[in-house]
Parts: sequence; C-alpha cells; structure tokens
Amino acid sequence: MINRIPLCSFYAFTLLLLTCNTVEKPPATSAHQPPEIRGIYGSPTPLWKKGIQLRDIGVNAIFVHSGSIRPEMMQRARSEGVKVFAEFATLNGKNYVQEHPEAWAIDEKGQRVEAASWFMGVCPTEPGFRQHRFDQLRDLLTTFDLDGVWMDYVHWHAQFEEAEPILFETCFCDHCLHRFSDDQRIEIPPGTTAEKAKWILNEVAPKWRDWRCQIILEWATEMKKIVGEIRPQALLGLYHCPWTDDEFNGARRDILGLDYDLLKETIDVFSPMVYHQRSGRQPDWVEENIAWFCDRLAIQEGTFPKVWPIVQAHDSPTVVSEQDFQKVLLGGLAGCSSGVMMFTTRAVAESEAKLGVVKSVYEQVGKLESYR
Ligand SMILES: [Zn+2]
Repeated sequence: MINRIPLCSFYAFTLLLLTCNTVEKPPATSAHQPPEIRGIYGSPTPLWKKGIQLRDIGVNAIFVHSGSIRPEMMQRARSEGVKVFAEFATLNGKNYVQEHPEAWAIDEKGQRVEAASWFMGVCPTEPGFRQHRFDQLRDLLTTFDLDGVWMDYVHWHAQFEEAEPILFETCFCDHCLHRFSDDQRIEIPPGTTAEKAKWILNEVAPKWRDWRCQIILEWATEMKKIVGEIRPQALLGLYHCPWTDDEFNGARRDILGLDYDLLKETIDVFSPMVYHQRSGRQPDWVEENIAWFCDRLAIQEGTFPKVWPIVQAHDSPTVVSEQDFQKVLLGGLAGCSSGVMMFTTRAVAESEAKLGVVKSVYEQVGKLESYR
C-alpha cells in the first residue's frame, strides 16, 4: 500500500501514517527526504517548566526572539540536541521612531504614518536606522553560536497578519525620495511631499514599486553578508507574508515590497506565515498555499532556498481545535517543505491536546528520519 503513494508527497505519506497509526518503512527508492526541521516558535521555557525535554515530543529546533535568548537557554537546548534559530525583528520599530522621528515613514499625504494595529514600520532607507539594526545583528551573532537568523517584519509599513489587511503607500520621506531619484535616475518635479508622491504614483509607479522591492532585497543582502562574516555556517531565514501574486490586488509585491524572484537568490529558508485563523482562512488553505509557493518558486528538494512554514497553534481570534491544528501542522509539510514550526510554543505547552498533536506528528517524522 505504501508503495502506491506518490513519492512527491511527504505530506500525504505522514497523513496516512497518522491515520493508520502504524509506521511502515517508506520505499527505498523514494527520492523524497523527510523534513529536517521539527520546530517550535517561542521560548521553550513553558515546555521545560512542565518537565518536558524537547526531544521527548520530537522537537529538534527552536526559533526564539533574539531578545529572549539567554546563555542558559542555549546551553540547555544544545544539551538536548536541538538547533537554535533567532527571530530578528527587522523593520518593526515603534519605540525607535518615537526616539528617532527622522526615521518615521511618511505616507502619500506627506504625513507620518500611523501604526498599523501593532505594527510600526520604520523607514527602510534612513541611514541611522540601518546602522542601528545591522549593529544589533552583529552583536547577536557575536554573542550566540546560532544555527541561523530568521528575519521578521521585512516589508514596508503595512499590516498583513489580519483578515482585513491595512495597506499604506509609503515611504515618501526625503531619504526615500532622494534614493529613488538617484537609483532610478528620475527627476521628481519640485513641490510638496504630497505633490511629489502623487506624481510618482501617477507617472512612474512601476519603477517606484520595483525600486521598493530592491530596497527590501538590499536589507536581506546586507544581513546575509553580516551573517556570512560572523557565522558562515548559519542560515538566513525569512518570516513573510504568504499571499499569492494576485491576492489583495498584488499587494504583497506592490505594497509590502516582497518580490520572491529577487529574494530567492539571497534567502536560505522561506517561512511563509500561514496563520489560518488570524487571516480568516480555512485550515486546508495551509496545504494549498505551501504547494502554490513551492511551484511558484520552482523549489527543488534538497537545494536552497528551502521552505519551513510557520503555522498557527495560538488561539486567536478564536480557539484553534486539535483537529485544525493537526491539519495545519501537516499542511505546513506539504509540497517541497522540509520543515515546520508553530506559533507559539506557549500555545502548545498550555494545551494537552495540542501537545499530543505535536508529539504524534513529530514522532512520526522522527521515525521516518531514522530510515534515511
Ligand atoms: Zn523613507
């Protein structure tokens, strides 16, 4: 029976194993490798406080906010044989813009942008901010022997993590206008900021949108360079908006500035943020989205870039059921995915049902891994 399963679908294979509650050796000729990452997102402390060792539930990697990493955490994670990746908040900076108003993003009316719910995107071209973030990254990498850095909030000011996204046209600050003009060799007619913004959006919008994507790429490229200098073995990952090219009228590229064709040359691992409930979708959407993403980027198994999605366990805005959580966790392993993690560790630690899902899925994956 196992031999009739399409070799390309590890997702289907794992689902079958869980359904049958048996483990059989996959075909020796299978070219498909089992996922290498069985991750959790968030400090592992809630699990440790319950007396759970990470390997007991099949976890082999933790993804932790850079500000929460401590030497003791690193030490214990290493002693349990798990990899440690740091989430690095990149362009989100409410406190930063309050202390450094010169880095406040400017909208098409020439006004400082308002926060997009909890997100405040800092102007990505402001030199002082760039220096600040790159110094933070250097400090992080120098302090901890990390397996990788996962860039978070790498996009122009907007809020995509909600069912009704908040989308802005930014940034028309003097830094951005000068850089756009210089980089693209475009002379912007004199006038107020609002008049310049109107001219750009009416007359040279495609060049403006291309340039904004290049600025985001520049951040990724610079961060990869820093990682390479300090921790050459470490990976550079990206948590990102999972919208397809057409959703929300192309806003992923046109508003957020995320151009997959550019980024795939620099990013080692993509982590689409497929939070089904937060974004008002059905659990099946996770599998569909990951399959789409793999096709869109033509990702080949066993090569870079890799895909390790992050799925939702956290009850927001309503409860994520045990069944739905299992579906999205498996959906995160669809297509070319070679790893998965969930938002958040705490949500799993606080629910015996979700803990059971993680253990059953990750243990099946772990057993398969031993066949490699
Ligand atoms: Zn700006």
